[in-house]
Amino acid sequence: MGGCVVSTPKEIIRTLWSEPGDMRVGPVARVALLAPVDKDYSYTVPDELAGQVEPGRRVVVPFGRRGRRVPAFCVSVADEQWTSTLRPVAEVLDDQRLLSDSLLELGRWMARYYCCPLGRTLAAMVPAAIRVQSGFRTVRTCRLARTGEEAAKGVRLSAQRRAVIDCLTAHPEGLTIEALLEATGAGRAVVTALAKAGVVEIRTHREPAPAPDFDRPGTEPAFQLNRTQRTAVERIVAMAAERRFRAVLLFGVSGSGKTEVYVHAIRAVLAVGRQAILLVPEIALTTQIVERLTSRFRDVAVIHSGLTGTQRSLTWAAIARGEKRVVIGTRSAIFAPCPDLGLIVVDEEQEGSYKNLQAPRFHTRDVAIKRAQLAGVPVVLGSATPSLETWHNCDRYRHFERISLPARISGLPMPTVEFVDLRMAQGERKGVHLLSERMEQAIRRTLEAGQQAVLLLNRRGYANYLMCSRCRHPVLCPRCQVNMVFHQTTGMAVCHYCQSKMPVPTKCEDSSCGGKLIRWGMGTQRVEEELRVKFPEARIARADSDTMLRSEHYEDMIRALAERRTDILVGTQMVAKGLDFPAVAFVGVVNADTSLAIPDFRASERTFQLITQVAGRAGRAEAGGHVVVQSLAGVSPVLSFAIRHDYEGFARHELGIRRQLGWPPFSRLARVVISHTSRDRARAEANALARGITSFLAEHKLAGQVLGPQAAPLAQLRNCYRYELLIQAADASRLLETLETLRHNKVLKPSGQQVMVDVDPVSLQ
Ligand code: ADP
Ligand code: ZN
Repeated sequence: MGGCVVSTPKEIIRTLWSEPGDMRVGPVARVALLAPVDKDYSYTVPDELAGQVEPGRRVVVPFGRRGRRVPAFCVSVADEQWTSTLRPVAEVLDDQRLLSDSLLELGRWMARYYCCPLGRTLAAMVPAAIRVQSGFRTVRTCRLARTGEEAAKGVRLSAQRRAVIDCLTAHPEGLTIEALLEATGAGRAVVTALAKAGVVEIRTHREPAPAPDFDRPGTEPAFQLNRTQRTAVERIVAMAAERRFRAVLLFGVSGSGKTEVYVHAIRAVLAVGRQAILLVPEIALTTQIVERLTSRFRDVAVIHSGLTGTQRSLTWAAIARGEKRVVIGTRSAIFAPCPDLGLIVVDEEQEGSYKNLQAPRFHTRDVAIKRAQLAGVPVVLGSATPSLETWHNCDRYRHFERISLPARISGLPMPTVEFVDLRMAQGERKGVHLLSERMEQAIRRTLEAGQQAVLLLNRRGYANYLMCSRCRHPVLCPRCQVNMVFHQTTGMAVCHYCQSKMPVPTKCEDSSCGGKLIRWGMGTQRVEEELRVKFPEARIARADSDTMLRSEHYEDMIRALAERRTDILVGTQMVAKGLDFPAVAFVGVVNADTSLAIPDFRASERTFQLITQVAGRAGRAEAGGHVVVQSLAGVSPVLSFAIRHDYEGFARHELGIRRQLGWPPFSRLARVVISHTSRDRARAEANALARGITSFLAEHKLAGQVLGPQAAPLAQLRNCYRYELLIQAADASRLLETLETLRHNKVLKPSGQQVMVDVDPVSLQ
């Protein structure tokens, strides 16, 4: 440093401090702060912490000019040259690594891909409770400091003290404090006093605590796998044995035996001493599938939201020690610290609940694929209605493959599906009926046969439609010909397809009629009321987010259905998923219009999945499952594919449309939401951002475009105005490149309060 020209005061100070002799070589740790900052920082490792500062442990470091102490994840340690300008790590928080090298690597990928600061990403991978106590318990053992009589010399001995000394004399190996107190009946103060006097020695050490037991061994089914199942298992096991990364879509209708394939593939992996992770969607956790799966394994861990912090952290530690070998759980289970992972299974891979709704906004399925790639293991994606992304990937990428299970195991046919056009049906009877006569008859027959019915309506409460009281002609969107929805707050009629609005007409639009318009509602609550009038004897239950406030409610609902205390269950999508009850013979879809789904390019896909899923609930045990699908918008192509159980036809059709319009999977999206307490500021910032990104894309000759900005669907949230825009890029690497450069140039502050970035959004709501 001696000869260099010094210009700024800051550099002068730095030069004064770092004399040439100050240059040293030693361990330097790079850390990612848990605060929302977008880079990592270097600190030296002081001698007394050498060996304790390692990647994947948390440390405390001085930060900023004042040297405020802040927590951070250590991400690497290496010998480097440093000068005394570098400050030392102040403290190490964890007594063992919370993240292995491969999980750190996964975290780095997530931070980059999902535009989230690394420290925050790593923190999200480790449940909060584990960060407090890493699966250890503190044990205090007592023994005599000196031997026998000598110990007692010079100490006044009460009866209790005497008893403690005698007990410890009999146990020279030492006793835990609890055992000692129990054996002698002495108080804690007695032991403390003896320790003070130097008679008793208390040692504190930490030892692994046992994790909760999730094993519920059940009886093994008697059947053999059929030929297609066997082939599927062999294929997956071969990949696992070769330690080869592949993504396998296991495509089969419900009841085709996918679960049995998971179980056998996982067992093969366990047999060679490795571990497996099985992911299930949120809704499934309290349902039968988890129970069924858990009963098939030993050393199983179930990660769910009902675990207490301590249970979670003990479970995590037991997984890390390799004691729990099968991990079953929702999103966060993908970060389970399995030491030698052999297989990952993602059941119902198309489920939207796999997307994390807070930063890092990761998609669990995609993280699973990445983890499998880093670990060199296969990942199995199971579904009857795969996401179009996955379906398309099987045609596009060499490391994807499709295995089909073509039929229901039982040889039972798929349920018959019948279509009712509500527009026609409305005219046939007096009054407003949400249930057509066909639907009513089917329910009646089901009840008479002593069986159960499930009704689905993807809308809770009441939703309002308009129609003529005289000729029953509905108020339709002039552009889309679907029912307009009456919005109480604005008094406008709105089309949920194209979002066009109009003032509510005063009279029937058919000029030859001119009748008065009436409102009628459609929602789960309204259906329940109609059912109670039409089937006064039936035991009716309703399941939607208004009635299912806690998971116990959901469990009760399931139990009532299982024990046949419910005859008719009506509900939103939560009745469509994961239920398997033999006595459910009839399923009704009250309204299958895609306009009832979200205003989103995935509306058709969602509708197809939902109808297929709910139809799969009918006739699981006996032949003759029956489904009635009603619609207010006629038979759309989506409905006709759903009615024929034709996923492949649907996928071809829908992918054709997506390709034409350039939506995923033919492009990648990132959604950017700007919020501000001032509406004008929010709009102005969104406009500026959109312009900035557009010119950036042009400048860098990146194929892509900005859609919007527009007011977000939830335009006003917690007193903030929200504007959103979509960045659309040709593929993932171009989207990543775009986002990274924007982030680097501080165009996007991914961590800021005002800007939210969601890469690969699953819902544009
Ligand atoms: P999916 O996961 O595709 O819905 P499951 O694996 O749950 O299908 O299988 C459906 C039903 O068929 C279950 O009751 C299961 O026990 C049974 N099953 C699965 N495989 C066989 C088989 N090879 N022989 C007989 N029954 C089977
Ligand atoms: Zn319209």
